Amino acid sequence: MGGAAEAAVGNEPPVIAVDGPSGSGKSTVSRRLAQRLGARYLDTGAMYRAVTLAVLRAGVDPNDAGTVVKVASSVELVVGTDPTDPHISLDGELVDGPIRGPEVTAHVSAVAAVPEVRRLLVEQQRRIIDEARQSTGIVVEGRDIGSVVAPDAHLKVFLTADPAERARRRSAELAADLHTTAEDLARRDRLDSTRTTDPLAQAPDAVVLDTTELGIDEVVARLEALLPGAAA
Ligand code: C5P
Repeated sequence: MGGAAEAAVGNEPPVIAVDGPSGSGKSTVSRRLAQRLGARYLDTGAMYRAVTLAVLRAGVDPNDAGTVVKVASSVELVVGTDPTDPHISLDGELVDGPIRGPEVTAHVSAVAAVPEVRRLLVEQQRRIIDEARQSTGIVVEGRDIGSVVAPDAHLKVFLTADPAERARRRSAELAADLHTTAEDLARRDRLDSTRTTDPLAQAPDAVVLDTTELGIDEVVARLEALLPGAAA
């Protein structure tokens, strides 16, 4: 597990990529790690969710790629990067609640599979990361951060967890039915891993951490220990 830290570049503010499937602990771990480091935090899944919300509100079929792209290029997405209070707005309206609804969750993988949507959002994500590189550093969570968005990240982490445990965590978080949640996770895993453009992927130089049996604090502590400059 030490390879990633050894590959770190000098004392620059760190860019940390945290990838993995839903329920692997990405969001909680990424936010807490960013807070501990005094760094920014970027939730790229929230961006795909916000575009999906705009598509649904416009009455557009999420599988109609051409029209989905038109919606994606016409909306204004503003993503906050404060790990203690992350917000996202769509054309000036805060949509933190609506983007977590079941309809968005059901359709987000279709929207995220459209190459031009990814191109637009990856461009915006890279701008945010480049800005943070000049200041406090940033923890970025998603599916393709280490492989596509920030292949030069100082630390790349791929979080996994047993599917049953992931479903248990997600259903507790959303107060949703366990069986339905497990089915939804399996469907999204399949769609996100098999799409042609930038699928959910483990970068070859990512540190893989199975969080099934680990508490949040333990995962965060392990990642901190891997950071450039951390004591071996
Ligand atoms: O992380 P979250 O579950 O909110 O992500 C929602 C969806 O957004 C994922 O299921 C995936 O389809 C898409 N996504 C993506 N690339 C990312 C982040 C999320 O395709 N970097």
